[in-house]
Amino acid sequence: MDSKETHAQCPCGHKLNDSSDYNILYLKKEMREVDILCPNSVCYLGELGFIKFEIVENQAQLERARFYSPYVTWNATRLGEEKARIVLKSHLEELITEKIQWRQIIDDSLKLETLEHPEEIEEDIVND
Ligand SMILES: [Zn+2]
Repeated sequence: MDSKETHAQCPCGHKLNDSSDYNILYLKKEMREVDILCPNSVCYLGELGFIKFEIVENQAQLERARFYSPYVTWNATRLGEEKARIVLKSHLEELITEKIQWRQIIDDSLKLETLEHPEEIEEDIVND
């Protein structure tokens, strides 16, 4: 049997047991990109990965999600490639299905777009 260790670790030394240990940042609203961050405020790496999505009919549709290679490589070195792949994959899935408040993210995105395009509202009124 291999080692019992099942947590991931950031190259800064911070342990990440499951999706609740990651920080999520949604700044790149126009790009529909959610950043996955190390919770250690003095981490030199900061961003561990990203999740890209589209909004289709008011629902989030996943485009691409992955961890960056420094984080993946670090864990592959610690846990072995196969185990690291399994652990990180489950973290990514948990982040997508449990951690991220998709409803709020979609509402934030759509609200921003409504504010940026007031002419569309006017047009509606004229056509009415
Ligand atoms: Zn870190």
